[in-house]
Amino acid sequence: MKKQMSSEQETSINHNGNGDGRAEGDLRHDWSAQEVVAVMGLPLTELLYRAQGIHRRHHPENTVQLASLLSIKTGACPEDCKYCPQSAHYAKATGVDREALMDVADVLDKAEQARAAGATRFCMGAAWREVRDGADFDAVLEMVRGVKALGLEACVTLGMLSQDQADRLAEAGLTAYNHNLDTSPEFYGEIISTRTYQDRLDTLARVRQSGVTLCSGGIIGMGESQLDRARMLQVLANLDPHPESIPINALVAVPGTPLADRKQVDAIDMVRMVATARIVMPSSRVRLSAGRHDFSREAQILCFLAGANSIFYGEKLLTTANNDTHEDLALIRDAGLDVEALSGVERSTDSP
Ligand code: SF4
Repeated sequence: MKKQMSSEQETSINHNGNGDGRAEGDLRHDWSAQEVVAVMGLPLTELLYRAQGIHRRHHPENTVQLASLLSIKTGACPEDCKYCPQSAHYAKATGVDREALMDVADVLDKAEQARAAGATRFCMGAAWREVRDGADFDAVLEMVRGVKALGLEACVTLGMLSQDQADRLAEAGLTAYNHNLDTSPEFYGEIISTRTYQDRLDTLARVRQSGVTLCSGGIIGMGESQLDRARMLQVLANLDPHPESIPINALVAVPGTPLADRKQVDAIDMVRMVATARIVMPSSRVRLSAGRHDFSREAQILCFLAGANSIFYGEKLLTTANNDTHEDLALIRDAGLDVEALSGVERSTDSP
């Protein structure tokens, strides 16, 4: 009688593909761009099959984390990221006004609301080129302490930072620092001119050095090639260790930004990107981020099948619209997914 194999064993035996004894799904940091391109270009059913097999080896199956993202300081950013409505370079056309850093108490109110709605991670974004020491940074440290005291994972994105600042964020208990690579090293100059790819890698290295976990991913749909998408994932996958969190965004083409006329990302491209991220960074959390708003329920479920295990939850993502929270909860329910719960913290009765 033929012995049944688990899908994990089958995946390992049939698809190790490296010729060096390593099984697919083992952590590696020596991906070539050609290998990543080959993974991304697999027949979709094969790609999903492999990605889900690897996902189950490293993560609880059918579980999704809800993360909430709040803009704590909006607009007037001196950087010129062509996709971003918060850049001061496009402010006249986008109409995004400058807002000062929010009060600590207001931020913590929002964090409590996010927790009550089911989020276990609370991300705070400030439109800064870099962190400056002083009252604003001290307030951010206070926010981090307050969010952690609520039992939530705390993540911030504040631009570039020094080693001392990274260490102070670590001391405050920060869980993760978000700093996206955005795209490939080769395409990067088409999108941002005010800081370099190496600046970004240096910031990631300082965060890693501090002991805070890394959240770093990128955006598709900005005019990049398939190779650029693969190269971005290759750079991330060859960091050792891998970033713990990989946000994958589809461009939200905001009127007034230089990328306003880009056409909407094909959902299948998003599925391929998520699945490839899952395969090349098996133990990282892959986050379905901006642009989800424009995808059908079925496309989002394919992204979960491809290995996405977190969504940004809440009606706004910094300054752009996100999915309706009731629709998200209905999607999660209809797909039969479990929502990751806070550990050791009382949940409010209206939590999903
Ligand atoms: S650094 Fe951030 S806030 Fe500033 S323009 Fe770029 S993406 Fe926008």
